[in-house]
Formats: sequence, C-alpha cells, structure tokens
Amino acid sequence: MGSMENKTIARTLRLFSQLMELHNENPFKIKSLASAAFKVDKLPFRVAEKTLPELEKVDGLGKSTAAKVIELIETGAIAEMSSLIEATPEGVIEIMGIKGLGPKKVLVIWKDLGIESIGELYYACNENRLIEAKGFGLKTQEEIRNAIEFKIASNGRYLFAQTEEVAEPLILDILEIVPDTKISFVGEYRRKCEIIDSLEILIGSEDIETFATAIAELPYLTIIEKEGKQLVTGHQTGIKVDFNFCSADEFITELAFQTGTESHIAELKSKLGNPASNYASEEEIYAKAGIPYIEPELREGIFEFELAAKGKMPELVEWQSLKGSLHNHSTWSDGVHSLEEMALFCRDELKLEYLGICDHSKTAVYAKGLSEERVLAQHAEIDQLNAKLGGFKIFKGIESDILFDGSLDYSDDFLSRFDFVVASIHSVFRMTEEKATSRLIKAIENPYTTILGHPTGRLLLSRNGYPINYEKVIDACAANGVVIEINANPLRLDLDWRWHQYALNKGVRLSINPDAHKKEAFYHTRYGILAARKGGVTAADCLNALSANEISAYFKQRKGI
Ligand SMILES: [Zn+2]
Ligand SMILES: [Zn+2]
Repeated sequence: MGSMENKTIARTLRLFSQLMELHNENPFKIKSLASAAFKVDKLPFRVAEKTLPELEKVDGLGKSTAAKVIELIETGAIAEMSSLIEATPEGVIEIMGIKGLGPKKVLVIWKDLGIESIGELYYACNENRLIEAKGFGLKTQEEIRNAIEFKIASNGRYLFAQTEEVAEPLILDILEIVPDTKISFVGEYRRKCEIIDSLEILIGSEDIETFATAIAELPYLTIIEKEGKQLVTGHQTGIKVDFNFCSADEFITELAFQTGTESHIAELKSKLGNPASNYASEEEIYAKAGIPYIEPELREGIFEFELAAKGKMPELVEWQSLKGSLHNHSTWSDGVHSLEEMALFCRDELKLEYLGICDHSKTAVYAKGLSEERVLAQHAEIDQLNAKLGGFKIFKGIESDILFDGSLDYSDDFLSRFDFVVASIHSVFRMTEEKATSRLIKAIENPYTTILGHPTGRLLLSRNGYPINYEKVIDACAANGVVIEINANPLRLDLDWRWHQYALNKGVRLSINPDAHKKEAFYHTRYGILAARKGGVTAADCLNALSANEISAYFKQRKGI
C-alpha cells in the first residue's frame, strides 16, 4: 500500500475515462475523470501517501474521484472500471493505446467496422476500409497504419516484405564500401522466410576493421557489438543486421553453411564428409554431397532431402510461370481502382492473360459487399469490358463469405452464375478447432466452391488464425476438387508453406492470389510465389499458371458444363 506512482494512477484514470466514453457513460463523469487524470500527473506530491480527506480537498479531484483513487491505491483496481474492461474485447483496449485514436474513433472501428484487434485494424487500413467510416479519411488511415507498423515492428520480428525494404538499399550501400568483395545475404532472408528475426549478410573479406569504420558512417546503422568474425548492428527501423566475415576463398563454403537451417546444414555436412574450404559454386557443393542442387528457399531441413533422395527435386514456380491473377477486388466492393483499371494493369503492365475479379459478397456489408442485383450489374460491365479488351479476359468471380454454419451467402442457383467462387471466412474468428474445421469443410463441400480463400485467416505477427485441422481440411479439398489459395498478401501467406507438400501429395492444386485491392497490390503476388517456392510448389501445381483458355475450360468442367 502507498507505493503506486502518480503516473500509474493518472494512466489508470485516463483509461477509465476512455472506457466510460467507449461505453457511452455519463459525459460529466467522463470529463471529471479525464481532468483528474491530467491533474494527478502534475501534482508535486505522491498521491499514494495521502488520506481520503486530504485527497478530497485537492483542487480538481472531488469527492467521488478521490474515493476511486483510494480504492485503486488500496486494492490495485477500481471495481467500476473492471466491469467496463470485462465488457470490452482485449484487442479493442489495445487499439485505444494507438497514438491518435480517441474513444470516438475506436467506437466506430469496433462497432461499425467489427474490428476487435490491432491485426485486424492493420489489415483494414491496407484494404482501404477505414476511409469510408464516419470521421475517418485517407490521412487518418495512413496515420493509424504507421502507428501500427511501429507497434508491430517494436516486437523485434519483421515481415519479409518489411525487411526487404531495408535489405535491398542496404546491400547497395555496402557494395560501395567494399566494391570488389564477394557479398551475399544468408540465413532467413536468403531462405525467404515469411518472418525475419535478423538480416544476415556474408562478406568475403577479413578486413573487419576497415569495414566497421565505413559502416559507422552509414546514418541508419548503429554498431551494437563486434566479436570475432561478426559485426552485429541495428538498423534505424529496429531490424537487427548481422555481418559475418570470412576469407574470399571460403566464401562459397560459408555461403552454403550459413544459408540453411541448422538441421539442413548438419545433413549437408554429413553427406559431404570432409568439406573442402573452397568450392567454385554451391552447385558443386551439393554435387559433391551426391544430391541435386537445393534452392535456398528449400533449405529448411524439413522435406528437401527426402525429395532429393526420391529424385523429385521440384522445379520451383516463378513469376513468369503465372498467366493470370485470381481473387482481386475493385471499386465494386472495397477496392481502390475500377474494374477496368485493374484489368488494364494486368494486361498492359503485368502482361497477364486474365484477371479473376472477386469482390466481396453480400454479407460483407463493411466492405460494400455485392447484393444479387449489383452482381448482375457487375457481370454486365464485365461482358462489356471483355468485348473491348482485345482477347484479355475478365473472369466473373466472387469472394463469398462462409457463414457461421459453413454455408455460402448466395443460393446455389445464384452461385452458378459465376465462373468461379472463392470461399472465405471474414467473421466470427473465435472458434474451436473442431468448429473451424467443420465450418470450412461444409464450405468446401459446396459444389460451387472453386477455391478456398486464406484458409486460416491469420495475419502474420498480429493475429493467429483460427485453429484448423489441416489434414482434414486439405483432405476435404482433395475429395471435392477444391483448389487452396496461397494468399500472397505479405501479412497472410496463407496456406502456410509448411502444408504445401501435404496438399500436393493429396493431389490438391494451389492458386497464388494477391487479393489485390488496388493496382500496386498485384505485385504482392511475388510474396505468394516466394512462399510457394518454400513449399516446393511447381508451375504445374498452380491453378493460375494455366492459360486463359485452359482455365476457362477448367472452370466450365468444374461447374459440370
Ligand atoms: Zn478475404
Ligand atoms: Zn479478398
């Protein structure tokens, strides 16, 4: 008792007043709590050492607030506040902690947009969903996005896409410092892991001193530690950057030995026997080990040696392998660009043969989901565009919500009007594994489901997906001829690459879908390709590696036409 700091008391009172505002309590009480919080923060003495009569006399506190402060000091909580906390999802309270978000905005986010965690809020910013909401605009949305990125980043782990923004310019600067030196990314970043703990760079030089001096000049890097052949630094974004040094002769050997996971390297070393210190190429190392070359993405120590032993080393899918883009949004629902703009971008910039448009379905009211009537209007526009796009094809798709009972939100009769259907869960994520699995399987069994969209709903580093039984879900897709999406949004990358081999072995096809809500987001496809490569996926395994004619025939055959 008596040890609580004024700052803690002030912070608690502030949260109390915000919670009251969030729950529409008496405005006078809210105001007096907020001003008491402000007051306590500035008091020249320790509030915790005062008695109730003493506190009541403090200007700006008043009788009822003073009593609450005493309750807080004595019991560590305020009962009235605790019941408000209980009535508020944990994630919503976290959202209130984001810079620039007052209770009024949080209320709109929570009640109008149905968002209950920071991860969901971040995703909504990226999907451009906030600008439509009351009291928000593009500027506020950007501010919130930046604040969340900062929060996510401060956990010390980063998305591959975030790390890439730092890594690529950094390597150019390093090359200026050591121009004629062998240099390469190694570790997680070279393996294209979806989450990066530290960016590792191998340098074929033993002149660490000169390098460290030059590095100290880079405004965005700080040297944290210098030990042996390693220089540990921190980038201004918070990303840890490790430089590992070796002699130029050892460079290729070290490149191989620093890229794979521990278990991959152990297996490689045991196959190599006594490794030489200088090889001409990594291909030579794997050849010496008696196995085909293993791409860096696959060096996880999970299934690559098994594939090598069976002589089934896959030729991994590439950007050029893909002929079209399925699952994308336009201004018909929550996208930024019109259907025509999206189509022209695919045709003229990306040189694709087709675009599969999948705006949100009618249940997704928050995303301007399409009523049956608006679907028909969109189909008319697609027909018009297809007539004038000179062979480029727009396929009529929909991202149909999987309802809580697993059904889709249009009738079978209506679903048959689409060329293809992506079925996704967008609401009620809190489910047991059993419930989530049966909900998905019911949707998979719907004869009109073509693709299962983002199967777990996960948002990397910010929201776990709902728990699913992967085997059962994938087996159901196999049994019903349903394709599984690899959602290429760098926050999703869902289906997880660790399940790709299982799916392929069951004969399930995968589709690398950007889920683009604006033109630029088509480039997210690349992250989906990287994930697919980690999963050992080939072009032949991908639905959207089919040509426009092939996929058109595929859709028809699926529908039994
Ligand atoms: Zn979706
Ligand atoms: Zn979508």
